[in-house]
Amino acid sequence: MKRPFLFLAVGLLLAGCQGTHHAPTGPGLAFHDKALLMAVLWHQTSAEYRALCYQAFNIARERLEEALAHPSDRPRAVIIDVDETVLDNALYDGYLVLNPEQYPEDFYRWLRNGPPRLIPGAADFLAAVDRAGVAIFYLTNRRTVTAEDTLRQLSVLGLPQLGPDRLLLRTGQGRSKETRRASVGATNDIVLFVGDDLNDFSDHFQGDSIEARKSAVDEHRSDFGRRFVLLPNAVGGSWEKVLYHDNDLHLVELKDHFRKHYLEAFSPAPNAPE
Ligand SMILES: [Mg+2]
Repeated sequence: MKRPFLFLAVGLLLAGCQGTHHAPTGPGLAFHDKALLMAVLWHQTSAEYRALCYQAFNIARERLEEALAHPSDRPRAVIIDVDETVLDNALYDGYLVLNPEQYPEDFYRWLRNGPPRLIPGAADFLAAVDRAGVAIFYLTNRRTVTAEDTLRQLSVLGLPQLGPDRLLLRTGQGRSKETRRASVGATNDIVLFVGDDLNDFSDHFQGDSIEARKSAVDEHRSDFGRRFVLLPNAVGGSWEKVLYHDNDLHLVELKDHFRKHYLEAFSPAPNAPE
């Protein structure tokens, strides 16, 4: 940080952050989840995050055009996830930094009242898929109770091919999307999967350990940027759940225990040269 900006930043802090309007201050608004803070800030503020989203959708567009260049005897389809792939929930994530989550009530309130926002590049990509006459299936683990709100959010943003038959919500207990993928694949030639979590591509990635997930990715290394197009998500998802051994932990202290357990860090030898 250049020095004049440092002075400016300190001045703003001393002035009680009057220049900011994003995070309210005051009693009762302690940071319940500091680990989330930087991840959410990265999504909300970094141009690099934005660039990665464009990069993913540019690749998806190229793959789509390549697929269209080859004949297919079945109707073509794209399967795309919703949260953090098409819809941006970073405002809700910001809420979670400042407040203990009451799930699912808080999330449903967000869906009903929060302003729907798009992930950069998503709308242009989906418009291109639509123009190409390729079917779009929105495959999400939002539950069926959110159907109306989810369709309204996607519709407000002008996204194409919306309808109950194109929105494949989670109906059972498990997080697997395999049955729903198979139902689309039974009658369609799926040219592309787009998502922000490996669970959006195949159950093959649902390993129960960090190493199992990494080795599954290694096995499928040639599929990324080809059949599978991955959006960035540092806030949460399968990568985080595996840290907690797939338990839904609500105790921040317990989460912190596992986070620290898996953190790898350089440790200098006691007599190492400076
Ligand atoms: Mg998602």
